[in-house]
Amino acid sequence: MRVLVTGGAGYIGSHLVDRLVKLGHEVTVLDDLSTGNSANLAESRSHIRFVEDTILDDRLVDKLVRRADTVFHLAAGVGVGNIVAKPLDALITNTRGAENVIEACVKHEKRLLLASTSEIYGKTGKMPMSEDDDRVLGSTTIARWGYSTAKAIDEHLALAYAQHGLRMSVVRYFNSYGPRLDPKGYGSVVANMMRQALADEPLTVHGDGTQTRCFTYVEDTVEGTLRAGLDAKAEGVVFNVGNDRETTINDLAALIIEMTGSRSAIRRMSYEERYGKGFEDTKRRVPDVRRAADVLGFRASIELRDGLERTLQWWRNTYR
Ligand code: UDP
Repeated sequence: MRVLVTGGAGYIGSHLVDRLVKLGHEVTVLDDLSTGNSANLAESRSHIRFVEDTILDDRLVDKLVRRADTVFHLAAGVGVGNIVAKPLDALITNTRGAENVIEACVKHEKRLLLASTSEIYGKTGKMPMSEDDDRVLGSTTIARWGYSTAKAIDEHLALAYAQHGLRMSVVRYFNSYGPRLDPKGYGSVVANMMRQALADEPLTVHGDGTQTRCFTYVEDTVEGTLRAGLDAKAEGVVFNVGNDRETTINDLAALIIEMTGSRSAIRRMSYEERYGKGFEDTKRRVPDVRRAADVLGFRASIELRDGLERTLQWWRNTYR
C-alpha cells in the first residue's frame, strides 16, 4: 500500500514508519521537523519519500493524500512544555492542520488513522478511563486544556465525517516512551529524567510526585496504531492505546536512578516554577484497555523496566 504518515519524523511517527517499511509498504512522510528530527528516519531514509513541510499547506496535503491509499495522521503540536510555552502554534497546527488532513481524506476517499491523546479525558477522577467516558477539563485560561480541546475537535470532525462515509479510526495514546525521545522536542518526564540521571544532575519531580501515569513502550504504541489503522474492524472506532500498569512519578524517578546507577538526588519543583502560574496537572491517568483487546486483539506487553532498559541503551549510544 501507499501510506502517508504525517509527523513521520517524530518520536512515535518514525517508529511507525520503520514498521510500515518493514511490512513492505510504500511510505511518504510529511513533517516540518518542528519537534521531529530527520535523524529519526535514518533506518528507513533510503526506502521512503520525505517531504519537509507543514500540514498547514492545504494544497500540499491534498496532493499527498490523493496519491496515498491510507493516511496515518500523527503530525501535531505535542508535549505539555511546548503547549504551555507556545499555545497558539499548537492550537493552529492541531485544529487547522488536522482539518486539512481530515478533509483531504474525505475528498479523496482515503482511510484515516487519527492519532489522539489521553489528554482528551482531562482531569477526570474516573479510573480506568474508557473511550466513551465524560471529559473533565479546566478553564480556557489554562493553556494546557487547549491541547485536549483541539484534539477533541479533530476527533469530533473525523467521527462526524464517518457518518458521511469516511473510513477512520482514532487512537488515544497514554504516555509513550522509548528510543528517540528528545528532551528538547516532545519532552516528557522519561526524557527529562533520563537526561538528568545520566548527567548526575538532580531529577526534577513536579509537585509531590504522587501523580501517576501509565508508561507505554513505543513498540506497543506503534503496534496498537498499526492495528487500528489497518484492520477493517477498527473503522469508526476510538481506542485507548496504552499500558494499564500505573506508576507514580516518585517511583519512576527512583527506578531511573537505580537503573542508571546515577548519583543524582531528587529535586522537588512546584508546578508554578516549571510551567508558570495557572497550570493544572492530571493526577492519575489509567487506560481501560478492553476495547483494544476485544476489537484489535491488542494488549501492551512490555514492562516498564524492560522498556526503560532498551531506551537507556539507545540513549547511551546516541547521546555519548
Ligand atoms: N514531570 C516531572 N518532572 C519532569 C517532567 C514531568 O515530575 O521533569 C511530571 C509532570 O508534571 C506530570 C508527569 O510528570 O505530572 C508526566 O509529565 P509529561 O510531561 O511526561 O506528560 P503528561 O502526562 O503530563 O502529558
